[in-house]
Amino acid sequence: MEAPSEPSDPVAADSTDSIDPILTERVRTSRLLGADPAMVLHGGGNTSAKGEYVDLLGKRRACIWIKGSGWDLATIEAPGLPACDLEQLRALRVLEELSDEDMVREVRRTLLDPTSPTPSVEALLHAFLPHRFVDHSHADAILALSDREGGEELCREVFGDRVAYLPFVMPGFPLAKAVAAVVEEQPHVEGVLLHKHGLFTFGGSGEQSLQRHFEFVAMATERYEKERVALLTTEESAVANMRCWRASQVTPVLRGALAGDGRFVLETRAAAWIVAALEGDGVAEIMQSAPLTPDHSLRTKNQPCWLELPAHADRDPERADSGADGQALAVQQAVQTAVATYAKDYRAYFERGCASRGPRTALDPMPRVFYLRGYGLIGVGANAKAAAIAADLAEHTLLTKVASQQLGAFEGLSEMDLFDMEYWSLEQAKLGKAKAPELQGKVAVITGGGGAIGEGIARVLLDAGAAVALLDLELSLADDAAQRLGGAVMAVAANVTCADSMAAAMDQICERFGGMDIVVPNAGLAHVASLEELQLEDWQRLIDVNQTGVLLTIQAAAKVLRCQGAGGSVVLVSSKNVLAPGANFGAYSASKAGAHQLAKIAALELAEHGIHVNMVCPDAVFRCGDNPSGLWAEVGPDRAKSRGLSSAELEDFYQQRNLLKAEVTAEDVGRAVLFFAANRTPTTGAVLPVDGGVPGAFPR
Ligand SMILES: [Zn+2]
Repeated sequence: MEAPSEPSDPVAADSTDSIDPILTERVRTSRLLGADPAMVLHGGGNTSAKGEYVDLLGKRRACIWIKGSGWDLATIEAPGLPACDLEQLRALRVLEELSDEDMVREVRRTLLDPTSPTPSVEALLHAFLPHRFVDHSHADAILALSDREGGEELCREVFGDRVAYLPFVMPGFPLAKAVAAVVEEQPHVEGVLLHKHGLFTFGGSGEQSLQRHFEFVAMATERYEKERVALLTTEESAVANMRCWRASQVTPVLRGALAGDGRFVLETRAAAWIVAALEGDGVAEIMQSAPLTPDHSLRTKNQPCWLELPAHADRDPERADSGADGQALAVQQAVQTAVATYAKDYRAYFERGCASRGPRTALDPMPRVFYLRGYGLIGVGANAKAAAIAADLAEHTLLTKVASQQLGAFEGLSEMDLFDMEYWSLEQAKLGKAKAPELQGKVAVITGGGGAIGEGIARVLLDAGAAVALLDLELSLADDAAQRLGGAVMAVAANVTCADSMAAAMDQICERFGGMDIVVPNAGLAHVASLEELQLEDWQRLIDVNQTGVLLTIQAAAKVLRCQGAGGSVVLVSSKNVLAPGANFGAYSASKAGAHQLAKIAALELAEHGIHVNMVCPDAVFRCGDNPSGLWAEVGPDRAKSRGLSSAELEDFYQQRNLLKAEVTAEDVGRAVLFFAANRTPTTGAVLPVDGGVPGAFPR
C-alpha cells in the first residue's frame, strides 16, 4: 500500500470560495471515469477522496468527499462530492450490524454541510479503506469475466493477485466491513473485484487510482475484444435482409399492451450490430438471464422480454397472402401473449420473493427491455429519459453477453439476490413519495412545431411531463425550438400536405418514443386578400395546409392511436376566425372552418376508440418568447395597414379589443391544449376560446 501523498493545506469547512486541491483532482478524475460508457452508465459507479478540513474551532479534522446521490460521474462538480467527517464514519466499523436505514442516517449525520446530497450507499466502504482515492465502477468487461460459470477462476487468471476477490454481498454495512478486512489481509492489492457486481481500485493520487481502473478493464476487455469489435463493426448491408419491421408496425402495439393506469415511453435501438446480434444462435437463451450487475435491475428489471414476432411476409412466402391486416393481427397476438406471460411470471417471482424475504410493495409487472429479432431492442420507461437509460443498459448488456459468450456460460446473480436489490428497503421507501406529473409517460405530437404557438404548446405539455415531437416542414425551425425547449423533445421534418411524409414522420416518432397519446394539428398558413383579389393558388395553398393538412395529420395519427388501443386526445388549434371571420381573410377563415368541422367529425368517429377530439380557438398570438409568429409576420403588416396602425400598435389594438384586455400568449394556448390533452373531463367535440373574450366569437 502506498503512503497517501502529503495533504495540501486544508480548507476551512465554511469556506465557499476556494476548493480543496484534492477535491479538484477528484472532480477531474471522476469525470474521466464517468466519460466512458463502457465503465460507467447513468449514475452508476462512485468515487471518493480523503483530505482534511478545519472546523469552526480551528481544529484540523480528516474528511472524505464521496459521490452524492443524484449526481452523474460524467458531469460531476464539487457539490456532487459532499464531505463527511472521516473519523465519525470509521468509528461505525466496530458495530456488529447496522441496518441500511440506520446506515444512511448515520452517514448523513456526519456531513459537514447538512444540506448536501446523501452520499453513496457505498460511503462506508470508501471510508473504511485506507487509500486517499477510491474508484468504483460496474464496467462491462469486468462483469463479462465475472458473470459466468468459473468466473472467479477466469478473473484470477487475468488479474492474478493484483486485486482481492470477494463473492457477491449486497451493498451496505456488511460489504463495507468485508472489503476493509480483505484489503487489510492483502495490503499489496490495487483493487477489489466484487463478483457479479463490479470493481474497486484505489491509489495515493486520483490519477493512480483511475489508471489502475482503466488498466484492469483493458485487461478484461482483451479477453473478448476481437468478438466485440467484429460485432460492433457489422455492416448495414449484412443485416438488410434481417430487418423486417418498421417501428410503427411494432411499438404502438407494444405500448398498448403495456398501458394500464399509466403510459410508458419506448425507445428503439436498431443499429446494424444489434439486429445482427439478435439473429445469432442461442441468443434468446443468452439474453433471458440476469442483469450484468444488480445496479441495473432497478432500471431494466431482472429479466428482459424476448419477443418472437411472427415471420414477416417479406421473409415468409406462405404469409405473403395474409395482407397488412393479417400481419398486424399476428403481431398484436404475439405481443399481447408475450407481455401477459411476462407479467404473470413477474408476479410469481414477486410472490416467491415475499415468501422468502417478507412482505414488500409490488412494483408494476411490466418489462423494461424488449429484444425483438428482425427489429432491434426497445427500452421502456415512465418517461423518455428512463426509456433511454433502459435502452442504453440493454445495448451494453447485449454487446457484453453476446461478444463474450465463448468465455463460458453466463451466470448472473441468483433470483433472490436480485429480489433483494429490486425490493431493497431503501428503494421501497421512495415509492409513492413523489407525485407523478400529469402527462408522465404520454407522448405529444405537434404539427407546425417550429412556430410560436407550437413552441408554446410544447413548453406547457413538456412541463406537464410529456415527451414531445415537433413536426415542421422546415426541420431547422423545429430543431431550433427543440433546442430552446430542451428535454424530451424531438424535431421531425414533415409535410402535412403529403400522406407519405406524415407516415414517415409517425414512423420516426414510434422509433424514438414508441407511439403517441396527444395529437395537436397546429400547422397553418395565413393570407390577406379580398375574395375578388384572392389568387386561386393562394386559396389552394391555404386549403392544402390548413384543411387537408389537418385531415392527413388526423389520419396518420389515428392509425397509431388505434393500433395502441389505449385512447388518446386530439386537440385542433382552430381559430377565433372560425367563429368570427374577418374581411380580406377569406382563405384563412374558410380553410380553418373546414378543419374545425373535420375535428367535429373526428370526435364522432373516434369516440368508440376512446379518443377525445376538441378544439382551441386562439386569437392574436404574436410570439412565443423570442420566436415570432410566422403567421403574423405574413399578415401583420397588411392587418396593420388596413387598420391604419403601426405594427407595434397592432398588438395593443388586439389586446384592447378583448373583454379582459388580455395579451394572449402561446403558453395560454398551451394551457388550453393541456386541459383537453390530459382528459380531465369526459369531453369531446368541444370548443375552448383563448382570446381574452371576444363577444362576436362566443361559441354557440
Ligand atoms: Zn456498485
